[in-house]
Amino acid sequence: MSSRECARCHRIFEKVAFEEVCPTCFPIEENEFARIKEYLMINPGASSNTVMTELGVSLKSIKRYLKEDRLEIVGDNKGFLRCELCGKPLNSGRFCESCYKEGREMIRKEEGLGLKSAYLKSSEQPTSKGIKYSEKNLKKG
Ligand SMILES: [Zn+2]
Ligand SMILES: [Zn+2]
Repeated sequence: MSSRECARCHRIFEKVAFEEVCPTCFPIEENEFARIKEYLMINPGASSNTVMTELGVSLKSIKRYLKEDRLEIVGDNKGFLRCELCGKPLNSGRFCESCYKEGREMIRKEEGLGLKSAYLKSSEQPTSKGIKYSEKNLKKG
C-alpha cells in the first residue's frame, strides 16, 4: 500500500491497487462515468464541451477517463492527449502502440507490487471502441 492524492478531492488516501480516486470519490466517479457513457450512447461523437456543460463533468475528469481508456476521442485529437513516452497524439490511453509495452513496464515499476485490482476493467477490452467523444468543438485556451 502507498499513499496517493485523490484525483477528485485531493485528499490523501491509502492506495491498495491502481485506483486514482479515494474510496469516498469512487462511487461518485463510477456514477459520473455511467452518465457520460449513457450520454454518449445517445449522442455519439458529442464534443467534450457539450459533455462538460450537459453533465457538469470537469475537463480534468474527461482527460482522466481518456487516459484510463474509458473514453476515446473521435478523429484528430489536436494533441489534447499525448503518449507519455514519445509525445505522439493519442485518441485514448497513456501510451501509443509502439510505446505500449514499455509504458506498461513503467507503470508496473511505478506501482511497485504489480497487484491486480478489480478496479481495472476486467470485463472491458483495453480499447472500448463503442464509447467515443469528439473534441472537435473544443476551443483553444
Ligand atoms: Zn476523493
Ligand atoms: Zn509513444
